[in-house]
Amino acid sequence: MNFDLTEEHRMIRDMTRDFASEVIAPRSEEMERTGEYPYDIISRMAELGMMGIPFPEVYGGSGGDWVGMHLCIEEISRCDITLGVLLDVTTCVVGQELFVFGTEEQKRKWLVPIARGEKIGAFGLTEPDAGSDAASLKTKAVLEGNEWILNGTKQFITNIGLENASVLLAAARTGKKEKGKSIISTFIVPKDAPGFHLGKKYDKVAWRASATHEVILEDCRIPKENLLGDPKRGFAQHLAVLETGRISIAAISVGLAQACLDNALAYAKERTQFGQPIFNSQAIQFKLADMAVSIELARNEYLKAAWLKDQGRKHTFEATVAKLYASEMVEKVASDAVQVHGGYGCMNEYPVSRYYKGAKPLQIVEGTSEVQRIIIGRILGNRL
Ligand SMILES: Cc1cc2nc3c(=O)[nH]c(=O)nc-3n(C[C@H](O)[C@H](O)[C@H](O)COP(=O)(O)OP(=O)(O)OC[C@H]3O[C@@H](n4cnc5c(N)ncnc54)[C@H](O)[C@@H]3O)c2cc1C
Repeated sequence: MNFDLTEEHRMIRDMTRDFASEVIAPRSEEMERTGEYPYDIISRMAELGMMGIPFPEVYGGSGGDWVGMHLCIEEISRCDITLGVLLDVTTCVVGQELFVFGTEEQKRKWLVPIARGEKIGAFGLTEPDAGSDAASLKTKAVLEGNEWILNGTKQFITNIGLENASVLLAAARTGKKEKGKSIISTFIVPKDAPGFHLGKKYDKVAWRASATHEVILEDCRIPKENLLGDPKRGFAQHLAVLETGRISIAAISVGLAQACLDNALAYAKERTQFGQPIFNSQAIQFKLADMAVSIELARNEYLKAAWLKDQGRKHTFEATVAKLYASEMVEKVASDAVQVHGGYGCMNEYPVSRYYKGAKPLQIVEGTSEVQRIIIGRILGNRL
């Protein structure tokens, strides 16, 4: 067993760390306050090849792997979580679904610009009445001549509000199986398709510079060839890429938790009470030690899941454990970081107040903690 990062992995991590601390960190507070999208930063991330790390060069990628991609996501998220989420959705979920299930033509048309970062992808599963029970989605697609006509509403859609968002990968019902269950297919829905309406922008508690909108598909017409993958396995395709999304949420959580620890440690050494730095108090050191322990464990687990994926091995259990543990861990770490800061931690000018708010949605996106426990429970059941 070898826990060392390769030379290439170290280069990706160090390059991303330098870029994120020089370019992203100074803008992070402003982005959260104004909710404005940092197009210039996104362009620079694209120039550095961050949007296509795991894809071959022929499809606009950098020819790297999933460990490298997730090291990049961790380092970006250490400085700004919304940009980590952007990468998760456009690269790990949408880019991957196009790469794995797309035809050669679909890859050239839709994946290449996404992998190069010229365009941004969005993922459309959740609907007003279909969240954790995603298979109960109501959006319908009907084939009419050479076009699919889609009708339905998708909600909480990350990235779709960005000016350069090109496409929504939307799941829709296309028929019924013999036993009455719906057949769900996945479609490449261009944002400029007739009948595609960008709905309201959500006013979120955190991640305010993440462009999350509702999408209304009203007699939305797309070419017949925009069906993605197996028409009977669209739901399974969506779930398969969400497995990688879970590794990404774990990496984002670790990045955010590391930022909490960095800030809390620096503050504890600087803040003096009772005539000495609060770091000298064992109560504070224990909090910091617990943070470091849980971050280390979460990092090891997301890297293991990404490594298994790179080996082409099954990683459902590891990806789910990583997502569940890391997203619950970061809420506690962020809360403790605020505690170490005392009253200052409740002031918006201190980054830990922002980190605290940003931690919670990680337990909800890409499957809630309850859903992760359901998946793990099922795996345990199958082991009997
Ligand atoms: C910021 C943000 C960005 C998002 N981006 C996207 C996106 O880009 N694309 C997309 O498709 N979706 C996106 N989502 C949606 C997200 O995936 C869903 O919010 C999530 O899957 C939960 O669905 P829900 O909100 O409908 O909650 P519900 O499913 O209504 O769940 C409510 C509560 O009940 C619990 N629950 C439900 N069923 C069970 C059960 N059987 N057993 C135990 N507990 C249960 C849940 O765990 C949760 O605690 C985003 C959400 C947020 C907050």
